[in-house]
Amino acid sequence: MIKLNSIYITESGDKARLNFDYSIDGKLDTLWFEVDKEYKQYLCTERIDAFAIGVLPFALKNGHDIVSEIPITEELSYKLNENLIPLLVKYDEHISLIKVTAPMTDEILQNAGAVGTGVSGGTDSFNTIISTYQSPYKDMQLTHLCLFNVGSFGGNASFQKHIYDKCVERAMLIAKEYNLPLIISNSNLADMFPRNHAYTHDFSSIFAICCLQKLWKAYYYASSNTDINVFSILNSSVNDSDEYALLLYYCFNNKNLNIISEGMQKNKLEKVASIADSAVAQKYLHVCSDNAENCSHCSKCMKVILALDAIGKLEKFAKVFDIEYYKKHKFKFYWFLFEKHYRKAPMMEPIYRAMRAKIPFYESIFYKAVVWLKHFIYDESYPERKVYIKIRILGISIKIKRR
Ligand SMILES: [Zn+2]
Repeated sequence: MIKLNSIYITESGDKARLNFDYSIDGKLDTLWFEVDKEYKQYLCTERIDAFAIGVLPFALKNGHDIVSEIPITEELSYKLNENLIPLLVKYDEHISLIKVTAPMTDEILQNAGAVGTGVSGGTDSFNTIISTYQSPYKDMQLTHLCLFNVGSFGGNASFQKHIYDKCVERAMLIAKEYNLPLIISNSNLADMFPRNHAYTHDFSSIFAICCLQKLWKAYYYASSNTDINVFSILNSSVNDSDEYALLLYYCFNNKNLNIISEGMQKNKLEKVASIADSAVAQKYLHVCSDNAENCSHCSKCMKVILALDAIGKLEKFAKVFDIEYYKKHKFKFYWFLFEKHYRKAPMMEPIYRAMRAKIPFYESIFYKAVVWLKHFIYDESYPERKVYIKIRILGISIKIKRR
């Protein structure tokens, strides 16, 4: 059982910290979330909403009920206990049916009317900022940008400081370009309740949003989903939470919280197209998760470079990508593209279709043949190989031993 005993604010220098004192099976510890002191008044001590959402993946995985005598928003309690938790457990045998128990309140929590989003520097983030910065829906225009350190840079043991520092510097420059205030936060969530961030980032980010619940009227969460058509809650504990993000937002949203999944209507190619003419994106786009600058040869960089080339805008991003490397190593990029096409990767298909017209016909045939041959020989999970083995067995009666 995870028991939340108290929520309180402390100050140190120019920082204000929201503390959650809790115990797991009697062992006491503290989860904290820290921002600049000017945002102290928006830290939420009145509800356990942030805590319940932030620790939920850990609690599900380890079979801990969440208990507190501090109130939870009634609608959130209902949706967690009656909708989300039973649904996730039903389709994942590696997590346990748990309960969130706390006094419920339906009182409205006043907020400062701010509208926020994250500023990671990636395509999803830039697409969200560009779409909402001067939104025709006046009441929904962006007022704040945020950089939450709640696990994406690793926990204490694996914290990638040089990447984090560069991301902070980049976020400051982007915020300056848009003339919006930037909220930088830190937390020990990833150390206290460790889970794979790639599978739980929606929970961690919404924890941070809820810690500042008294600030937000709305918050745009940049959708990084492959395609809205790909929705799944199967084995949620080992899959990207973005695959069921719409379910999460339905469950987490209530009269005190309005999280909007921005960008879900666009695939990766369309998002790249929507940011390609932005001078700010051309200066600061950063898609590489393992390096402080874009390396131009990892899968994330390759994906965006190919998308930019497909729409004829790659040269505009010469400041952030090594275009000469791309030109010299097109074989590697095309191989990557045809591999993804062979595997029918939904995110890459629109990019493949757009690139196909640019690749000479004879080269296209060559890549298709080589990729097919590779899988035919080495990958027994591919249907062509199974058929081949059956034909050989039935037709010529020669038994081919599978690897
Ligand atoms: Zn890279």
